[in-house]
Amino acid sequence: MRIVVGGYARISDVGELGDGRDGKEGVIRQQEDIHALVKGRGLSLGRMYVDNDLSAFKRRVVRPDYQDLVHDLEAGAVSGIAAYNIDRITRQPRELERIIDIYETARRPMVFATTAGDYDLATEDGRFNARLYVMIANKFSADAARRVARQKKATATSGQAHQGQRAFGWKQDGTVEDWEAALIDKSQLDILNGKLLSEVHAEWAELGVRGPQTPPGKTLSYSSVRYILTNPRLCGYRAYIPVAVREQQGRVDPWEHILERTDGTPVIGEWDKVSSADQVRAVVDVLNARKPKGRGRKKGSTVTVRKLTGTSRCGDCGHGMTSGQYTEGTSSFEQWGYYYHCKKSEGGCGKMSRCGPPIEDLVDSALLARLQQAAKGSKPQKSQDDPALVKARKELAQVEADMAEARQLRESGEFPLGEFVREISRLETKRDELSASVSTMNVMGPQTGVSAAERILREWDGYTIPMQRSVISRFVEAVVIKKQGKGGNHEFRPELIEIVWK
Ligand SMILES: [Zn+2]
Repeated sequence: MRIVVGGYARISDVGELGDGRDGKEGVIRQQEDIHALVKGRGLSLGRMYVDNDLSAFKRRVVRPDYQDLVHDLEAGAVSGIAAYNIDRITRQPRELERIIDIYETARRPMVFATTAGDYDLATEDGRFNARLYVMIANKFSADAARRVARQKKATATSGQAHQGQRAFGWKQDGTVEDWEAALIDKSQLDILNGKLLSEVHAEWAELGVRGPQTPPGKTLSYSSVRYILTNPRLCGYRAYIPVAVREQQGRVDPWEHILERTDGTPVIGEWDKVSSADQVRAVVDVLNARKPKGRGRKKGSTVTVRKLTGTSRCGDCGHGMTSGQYTEGTSSFEQWGYYYHCKKSEGGCGKMSRCGPPIEDLVDSALLARLQQAAKGSKPQKSQDDPALVKARKELAQVEADMAEARQLRESGEFPLGEFVREISRLETKRDELSASVSTMNVMGPQTGVSAAERILREWDGYTIPMQRSVISRFVEAVVIKKQGKGGNHEFRPELIEIVWK
């Protein structure tokens, strides 16, 4: 009776054999070797188990045919293994011990045959040799994995262009795809102007924008649009994400893995750039600052952001005003839709309320008139003189100083923990907002300048509400809504609205 064995062949992703037995043809060669081995040893082949491109070294990799082989050995379907080399079977001591267990407890003759010789796992010597070999193979694999990682990193550090599939913004040959680059540029500026990423995504979907990997019939997803607009590659930066990080679940932020030279400056790639580094960084800052911080807004509540949210103020108590909707079916609802009010539950006096659209129209026309004046008038100022930028920088420095002070007080024990945490989160939110607006202004240049004014005038009607709101808050400190006297008619009286310019 011939002993029935299982043949096992595996090719590795690392290509560690270096003798033509890795790669696609490698697995065929290994099988040929196994057939010859089985024949030469007078064995019988029960089944050929083959795993393609699966490492025997990485613990996370599951090799389905290997699992089958171990199962069949244990169940007695086969009474041995034939392989090109022991390191094809396993490179993990843990796995070898499992096989040794099976051999030791089997009540039948067992074979462990390789083209490099047999291991008699029933004897101490045979087990010792097998263990030693697997240990060496394991060490070799770890070295090879490190070598491959080093090599990939070396390629990345030298700033060579990327291989493989093109990225959105470039053609397959690595040159810039003009219309995609133009779309990226426009969308980045829109976001810096206050447009929401969801609006940009909707626009792209409407345009039917597709990436190189978008499945047929689909358009780019929200997260893909975000990825494209913030891709460090756009400005020549190279992110190198270590395999260990990539293997963990969850989305990896490439900006946390920008390759740097020894002097701490980013490695700049040789490929064609789509965006300036300042612009991409500003978009990243702005989108990060807009991320919900998991506090403040209650779950399920929807706060409608109107054009004057954040700038409208109660003329009585000075508190910021909130928008609300008139009851459906009422004449106020038909005529105006919504109103701004000073809400008691948010800390206001609760006594002020005014219909929304007329105030907004008033602010719009005042702003546009002012911009027209600017467009006709003086030459663009230098960005250092941009008062909004100077102000934001100053505020940012103040917030950072406040944070440092709070930490110091906390360390000296003068700040109770609960209060400290609240204060720090408040300051952090403020800091994120300010640093986003500083970097936006750095990129966009002086917003009081002629070109910015002209552009806003030209594009105003095409702006979404969040964009108009963002422009308003750039020029307007507050829109103060004063109380209307009791009695008399309730016509809208513009003189009761005071616009405080920045
Ligand atoms: Zn009030």
